[in-house]
Order: sequence, then C-alpha cells, then structure tokens
Amino acid sequence: TFPKRIALLGSTGSIGRQTLDVVRRFPEQFRVVAMAARSNVDLLAQQVQEFQPDLVTCYADSPEVEASARRLLPRALLGEQGLLAVATHADADILVAATSGLVGLMPTLAAIGAGKTIALANKETLVMAGHLVTQAAQRVGVSIYPIDSEHSAIWQCLRGEEQKNIHRLLLTASGGPFRKTPLEDLKTVTVKQALAHPTWSMGPKITIDSATLMNKALEVIESHWLFGVPYEKMEVVVHPESVIHSMVEFVDGSIKMQASLPSMHLPIMNALGYPDRLASAETDFIRELRWPDVAALHFEELELSRFPCFRLAVEAGKRGGTYPCALVGADEEAVELFLTGKIGYLEIAQLIEAVLERHQSIEQPDVAATLEACAWARRTVRELWKKRIQVQS
Ligand code: NDP
Ligand code: MG
Repeated sequence: TFPKRIALLGSTGSIGRQTLDVVRRFPEQFRVVAMAARSNVDLLAQQVQEFQPDLVTCYADSPEVEASARRLLPRALLGEQGLLAVATHADADILVAATSGLVGLMPTLAAIGAGKTIALANKETLVMAGHLVTQAAQRVGVSIYPIDSEHSAIWQCLRGEEQKNIHRLLLTASGGPFRKTPLEDLKTVTVKQALAHPTWSMGPKITIDSATLMNKALEVIESHWLFGVPYEKMEVVVHPESVIHSMVEFVDGSIKMQASLPSMHLPIMNALGYPDRLASAETDFIRELRWPDVAALHFEELELSRFPCFRLAVEAGKRGGTYPCALVGADEEAVELFLTGKIGYLEIAQLIEAVLERHQSIEQPDVAATLEACAWARRTVRELWKKRIQVQS
C-alpha cells in the first residue's frame, strides 16, 4: 500500500541523500516520517524543510553541533535516544539503515523488534551481529532488503530460485584505486589518492575500505548472513568497470548476473520499491546502459598479496564468535587514523592484524558482548598506535 512510510537513519550521508533523491521523484509512493543525522545540521535542516518528517533527531557529537541544532532544528530530539526513536517510529513501515559504522546496530535491532521491514545499507551491522540480526528477523518474521549493490544484485538473481540450487555466489570488486599500483609504492599513497575511487562516489570510510578491499571482505560476510550461503561457496572476482554488480552460479553451471551503470540509486529503488520496480524514466539519475559505454567488460583474479585486509577479514568472518566485531572495531579506528593523517596506508592492515591476534573471542555473543568486542578493538588500535609513535620518537 502507498505511500510507504520511511524512517531514515543517516539522512545527510551518501546513501541517505540518494534515498531522498528517490523519495523526491516518487512522491506518490513514499513519505519520510522520521530522519536522523549526526553533525551536518545545515543539510538536515534543509531536508526537514523539504520532506516535513514528523520526527527529526540529531546525534550532535559536539557542543557546537548541539548549539546549532537547537537554533536550526528547535523541534529535533538530540543525542543517542534519537536513533532508537527514529528506528521504531510508530508510523514507519520501513527503516532505511544508512548510518556509517557501529551505531546502526542497536537501532536496527530495535526496528526489527518493532516489526519494521529493513532496507539495509549499513553493512557493519550484519558483519558484527549477523547471527543476532538474522535470528531476530526470523523470529519476528521481518524481511531485510539489501541496499549494498552486490547484495542487491544477488537478491535479484535469486528471485524465483531455490536455495538448494545455488552453486556459488560471485561477488564483483572494482579493485579500487590501487589495483595496479606497484606494491612498493603502496607504503606512501596519500589519503587523497585512497579517496579517489575509480567507479563509485561514496562516504569516506567505505571508500578507504574499498581501496584496501576490506569492503569486499565485509560484503562476503554480509552475504553469508543475508543469503545463508557458506563461505566455501563464495568467490570474489575483480571487475574494474563495475557494470556487473555480482553473479550467482547455479548447480547446472548457469550463471545469472545483474548489470547496470554504477549507481547506488538503483539498489535503493529496488529495496524501497520491492516487490514492484520503480520506473527509471521518472528519474534524472538512472542512465540507460548504452552499448558503447560497455563495449568491453573485464574480469581478473583477485591478487591476494596486494590486499592483506581482505584475507584478514574473511578469516575473521569464518572464525566467527566476536572476531568479526573486533574486525569492524579495529577497521573503523584504523581507517579513522589513516583519514586524519596519523598512520600510513599499509599500517591499516598491520594494526588490524595485531588486534585480531590479541583478540579473545567469545562464542555466540549477545549485544553487549558484541559492542564490547568492538570497543575493545578500537581501544587496542589506539594503544598500539601510541606505542608505535613512542618507539619511533
Ligand atoms: P556517509 O559517511 O556518507 O554517511 C553517514 C551518515 O550517517 C551521515 O548521515 C551521518 O550524519 C550519519 N551518522 C553517522 N553517525 C551517526 C550517529 N551517531 N547518529 C546519527 N547519524 C549518524 O556514509 P555512506 O552513506 O557512504 O555509508 C552509509 C552506510 O552504507 C555504511 O555502512 C556503508 O558501508 C554502507 N554503504 C554505502 C555505500 C555508498 O555508496 N555510499 C554502498 C554500500 C554500502 P552526519 O553527516 O550528519 O554526520
Ligand atoms: Mg558494495
């Protein structure tokens, strides 16, 4: 039934803004009833003006942000409670979970508990707590629709197919900006180079994760939970053009692939519109695929020695317990250190490896143990980094 009523976590981010682009083009079909952001108060205020949600919340991570939120958004709920209030808003049918990093977990679980359909962009949530999220969703009978482009592709390929007929999932990876960089140059690559993704424009954290291929490993773990497929049945193939968004091979050897020009609007439209499809002709952001644009598509094997984060992360996923939580926490902190110029590119993998080596995993962690393992990993990255500086000086 329309309009579908949307609660949006992370409205000011890359996925959040593109979600609002879709809502803007299909005003009959969607209405935003609640939205949450953290620090971009100016943009949030503009969005509130345009979309008129019933509830707006701002996490406000500093006194300055809080002051400007009080001025520009007098009705907004401030602080941590806001995320939960948006996620469980009584009028919402569907939650678009598009915050970055760890904060999405609790609100996503709360939304599932409240019976909301989940359109999930925030991959860290499934990686950290895949068992908790999928069990809760099954218990309540709630669906999780993927927004990540690879998972949207697999989701589309699997329609009308039976689980027993899946031979393997083939996730495509662009290879990021350093696919061909000589290995000896990786030590000195800059933040700016790492942020220059060849095919996708995304938020900073996921862009760095795409350069290290941490992102692809997180997507392998995400696929394991979303589609219930074991790790032995997943493979990654490098595909620099980012036109084939992923593939499924069936037991008879047939492979289905999903293609489009790279655009996150499309998977967002898929998740919001499902089971219907929204017409791209009504948008100004979905470009029709023309043959000269895709005259040649290339596929290459993944060069593992170039991407240590990939191996570390898939290993953590396979080991399970709280290893994936430690992975997500360590990666978040290490990427933050890199983005703020405190460590070099290669140190991201070194710090994550050191943290995983020290981690004492717990089996079947509950929410508290999940969050504690993340927090421990973040602290441990900081401590290891401080020790390194002391040794260097
Ligand atoms: P961005 O960094 O662009 O945006 C993050 C959003 O989350 C911003 O709106 C930010 O608010 C908000 N946010 C962060 N922390 C809080 C908090 N504590 N309370 C409230 N809001 C908060 O990230 P992306 O949009 O790139 O990515 C979002 C998620 O989607 C990530 O998990 C990413 O891995 C995943 N994803 C993204 C893709 C992409 O193309 N961008 C593709 C596939 C998956 P503010 O700006 O106000 O600080
Ligand atoms: Mg992706």
